[in-house]
Amino acid sequence: MRKKIVLVSLLVSVIAIVLLAVLFSGIYYSGMVAKTQEQLKGYMSVFESERAETDISDPSFAQVFSQKLSGARVTLLATDGSVLSDSAQDAETAENHADREEVIAALETGEGFAMRRSATVGEQLVYYCKAFTDGESGYLLRLAVSSPSLFGVFADSLPTFLWLLIAELVICMLVAWLSTSFVLRPVEQLTHEAATGGGREVRTRYPELQPIAKMMNDMNADINDKVEKMREDSRLGKLILDSMEHGIVIFRDPSDIILINKTAARLLDYEHNEPIPCFTEDREIADILAAGESSSLYRKIDGRDYNFRFTFNEKSRVLLITDVTESMAAARSKNDFIANVTHEMNTPLTSIRGFAELIAADAVPPERIGHAARTIIRQSDRLSKLIRRIIDFSAIDSDELPEYEVDLSGLMHEIVPTFEPRLSQKNITLTQDIADGVKVNSRRERLVEIANNLISNGIRYNKEGGTLSVRLTGGEAPVLTVSDTGIGLSEEDKTRIFDRFYTVDKSHNGEGGGFGLGLAIVKKLCRRAGWKLSVESKLGEGTSFIIEFSANKED
Ligand code: ADP
Repeated sequence: MRKKIVLVSLLVSVIAIVLLAVLFSGIYYSGMVAKTQEQLKGYMSVFESERAETDISDPSFAQVFSQKLSGARVTLLATDGSVLSDSAQDAETAENHADREEVIAALETGEGFAMRRSATVGEQLVYYCKAFTDGESGYLLRLAVSSPSLFGVFADSLPTFLWLLIAELVICMLVAWLSTSFVLRPVEQLTHEAATGGGREVRTRYPELQPIAKMMNDMNADINDKVEKMREDSRLGKLILDSMEHGIVIFRDPSDIILINKTAARLLDYEHNEPIPCFTEDREIADILAAGESSSLYRKIDGRDYNFRFTFNEKSRVLLITDVTESMAAARSKNDFIANVTHEMNTPLTSIRGFAELIAADAVPPERIGHAARTIIRQSDRLSKLIRRIIDFSAIDSDELPEYEVDLSGLMHEIVPTFEPRLSQKNITLTQDIADGVKVNSRRERLVEIANNLISNGIRYNKEGGTLSVRLTGGEAPVLTVSDTGIGLSEEDKTRIFDRFYTVDKSHNGEGGGFGLGLAIVKKLCRRAGWKLSVESKLGEGTSFIIEFSANKED
């Protein structure tokens, strides 16, 4: 801008100087011409005053008179324009001057001026011609002095003007520079402050610049707001991404990661600015990346199952990692469950069908009919018991019935005696220590289910002549403990007995054994209620099931 201002002012002053030079030359030139004409008139009056004594017929008249006039050109002409005497040339050879401008004017009006370049003397001359009458005849006297041409005047003044121009250019540059500095410095200061102020308020002491400063401050505030909003959005976006349990990676290639959230970085062992290891080391993943077609695969990381879903678009690739451990386990468990149910149902059904076919074919001797019928009834009971257990087990999930305060102490006092026949069958000694007034927030049927399962297991897996202990403590956190001195559990079985259809001794599955659903039901009920269920056991010595109730009440 400064350069432009200086250049424009230089151009303007150059044009001004040139125009001035031309104008002054013109004025000077016309003044000079007028002066020369005056001079010529003066010379002519000299002639007029000496005319009476002058012999113009003398051939040397022009020469003599010219010397008198300091060398001015003198030409004496006849009225027809022929040269009678000329100080600058021989009259004999001189051409007729009747067509000369000053001669024509003098013949018409008595006198005339002209100015032109003389072919005779070879320079610019100012001519003054005057007509005289001498009796009958007349003659013309023409005087001329040299005068520079307009171009000559201009050329003469050119060096002066050039110096003037140089001086003017220097001054102009200086003035333009200083004035632009003066004008622009506050603006420069303002822009510098705005550019380096880091969003601080811009101030100026020049009132003319106040609107600009205000505009800058408004813009700054607007930009700051937008930047802050963008930062906030980006922080929020990062927070959301980092708190996602899914892993997400947006990348161009394995070493050009655009975005990766915390979960993905942890699962993929990602180090900042390093390529993701599995993108190059895992053959299957490397093949997917090379093919560039959206697809997914499963990987196990730290014992958990993850689905890796790769999506490709024009500019980037996206990997979404989802933890599918639970859904895979659920799918597996569903398959196991169906297989187990089918298996458990198949045994009694085979037995029922076998006996029924024998009876239908009259292949059972009359004395065995009773036995066959009893087997069919027993197996049918077992089948319906299994179906009931499965229904019970499934019903827990959809059981949304309201809870209420159950008197657990009273309930235990009711349940335990119902087991006396089975206890005495196995000669098992029962010890019970049931605290009074223990109340638990639940439903009666759920607590009955739990107690029945634990006590019946304590009898079923007890030794002949063993002991069964039922203990209920009150207080802040009531605890129900059912212990036996039975066969006990191995360390591995302890972790599996709560699985559906899991039975330690498969031979139990027969006539008298359970289906492996009892403890699964207990566990499910406890988990839904938020109670802690644990087992302590030693193989060959006995087992204790402990339930720590929460949200209890005691009178
Ligand atoms: P079941 O109907 O087979 O008893 P449960 O789910 O109640 O099914 O028990 C699962 C398995 O856990 C049983 O088959 C048994 O092997 C083992 N078990 C349960 N209770 C005891 C116990 N008190 N002592 C030893 N083993 C037990």
